[in-house]
Amino acid sequence: ELPPINGDFYELHLRLNEEDRAIQLKVREFMEREIQPIVNNFWLHDDFPFEVIPKFADLGLCGVTYQGYDCPGKSFLMEGVIAMEMGRVDASIATFFGVHSGLAMGSIYICGSEEQKQEWLPKMHKMQAVGAFGLTEPEVGSGAAGGLTTTAKRTADGWVLNGQKKWIGNATFADVTVIWARDVDDNQVKGFLVRKGTPGFVAEKIKGKMALRIVQNALITMKDCVVEEKDRLQNANSFKDTAKVLQMTRAGVAWMAVGCARGAYENALDYTRKRKQFGKPIASFQLIQNHLVEMLSNLTAMQSLVFRLSELQDQGMLKDEHASLAKVFCSLRTRDIVSKAREVMGGNGILLDHNVARFVADAEAIYSYEGTKEINSLIVGRAITGFSAFV
Ligand code: FAD
Repeated sequence: ELPPINGDFYELHLRLNEEDRAIQLKVREFMEREIQPIVNNFWLHDDFPFEVIPKFADLGLCGVTYQGYDCPGKSFLMEGVIAMEMGRVDASIATFFGVHSGLAMGSIYICGSEEQKQEWLPKMHKMQAVGAFGLTEPEVGSGAAGGLTTTAKRTADGWVLNGQKKWIGNATFADVTVIWARDVDDNQVKGFLVRKGTPGFVAEKIKGKMALRIVQNALITMKDCVVEEKDRLQNANSFKDTAKVLQMTRAGVAWMAVGCARGAYENALDYTRKRKQFGKPIASFQLIQNHLVEMLSNLTAMQSLVFRLSELQDQGMLKDEHASLAKVFCSLRTRDIVSKAREVMGGNGILLDHNVARFVADAEAIYSYEGTKEINSLIVGRAITGFSAFV
């Protein structure tokens, strides 16, 4: 009898309490039952499985760390484990969830007024409203902190937004999109809740992606798009407030990378035990075992790191550089792991049906979004040397 396949080699799940462990297993079961069977087909067709949204809602995990507003008020560790479990089956679905629950709900939770939180968070928790987060622009990616060109002009009726946003996940169908724009009067970045159907707001699907194909990313164009003052995020006064949201969610992306690596490793291990060459399972060959152990070493280091990262977050000690280091390390190692996973599967490794090829492609997007490897390295570099290499 072969040993069980287990990407959690150091049994880090033992650090979870009983209730959180039950949630972890519930998410795993949900992903394997509802998402795994359909995911390759939706990925292939660049399409989103809208029918799973109510099932996601039933999980009751949106806004998992937020206190009040019907949200679960769980730990950041729990949130991380959920991101890993989703990423383990599919990084697109994990991204859809992360954009809604982390970036969009998080913007409202961190930067919204009491009325805004009361209006949006309970229904977003139930996924009766889906959210998106619009920061990046066609000409402004890494340099968003100082470079946003989308403008917001205060008028007697509220605010007028003009400009474009690129790559905005969920925005083709979102009920509310958080738009970050520069106030032309005081030159500060402010956040706006743009409701679905607002005149002057057009979100076109970006086609032809080779990664995270299930996520519906949009190119948004705003032409004299009017937003009422009550829909300006009342506690977002500069980019520093935007950065608070990004710090919180960056930790989640590191966890998602771990999930992606774990899914690829477990599927590749399973394959090598079943596939025979020269009359023997390829898993019995020394060189294949060496690849597998290298993958597992990196995966185990990544998991140890993100568990500690979330502990820091739960203790209120998380700094930007902590989240950035984890994002750099995990997304870099994930790229290695998915590529090795593909390698040990030979030709079948490039077929979607064998459940590794998708991870290889998706790892490329995880590597670059929510701060590229270079930008996150510079954040850590600034913290350890005392010199900023940004300017
Ligand atoms: P650029 O900023 O043009 O960078 C290109 C290269 O130059 C990178 O290697 C970068 O590291 C390097 N570089 C840039 N500046 C420096 C420097 N100072 N020193 C050294 N190297 C540097 N954004 C949103 O707002 N909302 C979303 O929902 C969202 N979802 C996304 C989903 C996907 C699938 C993708 C691919 C992106 C998404 N993004 C989203 C945007 C994402 O955050 C950006 O792609 C990312 O910040 C990088 O910006 P860029 O692609 O414009 O690259």
